[in-house]
Amino acid sequence: MRSPTTQTLDIAVLPGDGIGTEVMQACLELLRATQAASTGPVLRFTEHAAGAQYYARTGVALPEATLEACRRADAILFGAGGWPQIRYPDGTEIAPQLDLRLALDLYAGVRPIRWFPGLPKVLADPRAQAIDFVLIREQTEGLFYSRGRGRIDDGHTAWDTMRITRAGSARVSEFAFGLAAQRKAASKPSRVTCVDKANVFTSMAFFRKVFDEVAAAHPEIEREHAYIDAMALTMVAKPWTLGVLVTENMFGDILSDLGAGLIGGMGMAPSGDIGDRHALFQPAHGSAPDIAGQGKANPCAMFLSAAMMLDWLAQRHGEPRLALRARAIERAVERALSGGATVPLDYGGSAGTGQVTAAVIEALAAALRGLD
Ligand code: ATP
Repeated sequence: MRSPTTQTLDIAVLPGDGIGTEVMQACLELLRATQAASTGPVLRFTEHAAGAQYYARTGVALPEATLEACRRADAILFGAGGWPQIRYPDGTEIAPQLDLRLALDLYAGVRPIRWFPGLPKVLADPRAQAIDFVLIREQTEGLFYSRGRGRIDDGHTAWDTMRITRAGSARVSEFAFGLAAQRKAASKPSRVTCVDKANVFTSMAFFRKVFDEVAAAHPEIEREHAYIDAMALTMVAKPWTLGVLVTENMFGDILSDLGAGLIGGMGMAPSGDIGDRHALFQPAHGSAPDIAGQGKANPCAMFLSAAMMLDWLAQRHGEPRLALRARAIERAVERALSGGATVPLDYGGSAGTGQVTAAVIEALAAALRGLD
């Protein structure tokens, strides 16, 4: 039994649109099952509205009450936001997740890419089983700085401006080296690669310069530079050589989908949007209108994002039992997928959201055994 002084942590839950609502429901089921089977802080989940469907009804994508709840919460879980048919007057999509990044200063987009045993391999090379790297995407400036600020002159020329600042580049580089140190301690690939286009753009040469300044303070961590085009090739040709990549917002947006492709698709790609005070965790995929409402979505990216949230909370609150829950979720996903009995639809199998969720929850007891 939990003691009356058990710590409670508030989690703001924003299911959003499309499959976001489906994978979120599955994730809450898994988190509650994990919590019921372990000791430590209690997570209290409270749902809040945001997204394209909400915008269609109200004209607001991210209500002030939701933003305030996110500010107050200990962490935020987000499903997916956006719907192609619902757009702002300028033609861009509704994306409360982007609004939250700016409002809460979630500057480091953390996208782990690793191959899970049991899933069909995308790359034929057997070394692809060792894929285990993290992409860190700067999320508060870069080319996305232009969101809502773009300009069209005389109906002929459109402008979107890239903004790179010393402070923005320094803090995301620092974050990359911090994560690399943690990975090095855990014997995982830890070389930090600055991915840029410093050979062409002043802004990118500046990003690299600031990265080098930060790197100088971390002599114990190996580092290198790569141009974005060369990195696209490396990610396909030998992704098992990569450790930690740090890059500009737009480059990171593109590379994170390429990374997800390397491990079979968006269904296994989690992410964390992390700042100094707040953090939001969401699958790397979008609302997937093509499969929404059909019970077909693979919920594992959402599950693994929840595990990232537990790890972040564990560190922040000095509470190792939350990290144990994170390991339990990861192991349960591995166990559920490795036997071959449960293959999600996006990996060519027949398991929909419900079946994958049931298999992961069933694997939880064995995953938890030996962790305490
Ligand atoms: P966004 O721009 O909002 O990130 P997107 O246009 O990149 O979204 P997604 O919604 O991520 O698109 O979907 C891309 C493809 O991947 C679609 O074919 C979708 O069905 C598939 N997909 C995405 N997430 C999942 C999932 N969890 N399970 C199965 N298939 C998925």
